[in-house]
Amino acid sequence: MNQRFESERKKMVDEHIIRRGITDERVIEAMLKVPRELFVEEAFQEKAYGDHPLPIGCGQTISQPFMVALMTQYLKLSGTERVLEIGTGSGYQAAVLAELAQKVYTIERIKILFEKAQKILLEKIRYKNIITVLGDGTLGLPNFAPFDRIIVTAASSDVPKILTDQLAENGILVVPKGDKFIQTLTIITRRDGELITQDAGGCVFVPLIGKYGWKEEN
Ligand code: SAH
Repeated sequence: MNQRFESERKKMVDEHIIRRGITDERVIEAMLKVPRELFVEEAFQEKAYGDHPLPIGCGQTISQPFMVALMTQYLKLSGTERVLEIGTGSGYQAAVLAELAQKVYTIERIKILFEKAQKILLEKIRYKNIITVLGDGTLGLPNFAPFDRIIVTAASSDVPKILTDQLAENGILVVPKGDKFIQTLTIITRRDGELITQDAGGCVFVPLIGKYGWKEEN
């Protein structure tokens, strides 16, 4: 079983990650390593290595592998960074980050997803460098700031100042910025105290909901 997933994982990395232009060797290594099948619902395990998002419950999704690789590549991780992820979801992106950075803080607002991801990350795979937090990620984690990298894996109409304020000098923040349905992957770098913004193409994420995000719909 595991061997089958391993060969599917290699195929996914070859076809959807390398062939589509991801070149960061460390990102490629991390994606070859993290068992994506553990992060999807059992009913979808067969589809774990396709290049598409999948439902993870509570109306949320695990991002497609290429998007995970692309966002991670934009973070330019060397292994020494403290990273904040907003939107733990399944925990898959957090696992990839943990392979590449020194420490990962990841926040999820939905308790069921938070507990599920925590179980996989901390009890099943046993990452020692991940801190999982239940709460509103639009506030960031001021007590642990500044962060060398911040990755928002839900769509934001704007980038809350409270988050850019938690970005260290020479830090990089990656966020899907746009409306609720379609966004532009946006890379923000803090250099000499200034924020430099770069657009990196279209993307589609579930909305960021919270104090500095969208309001919850009933
Ligand atoms: N990174 C995830 C995919 C995220 S889907 C993965 O690898 O699976 C986006 C997630 O962001 C959802 O789980 C959603 O509940 C969460 N989210 C939305 N708004 C949030 C907020 N303000 N704080 C924390 N999590 C939030």
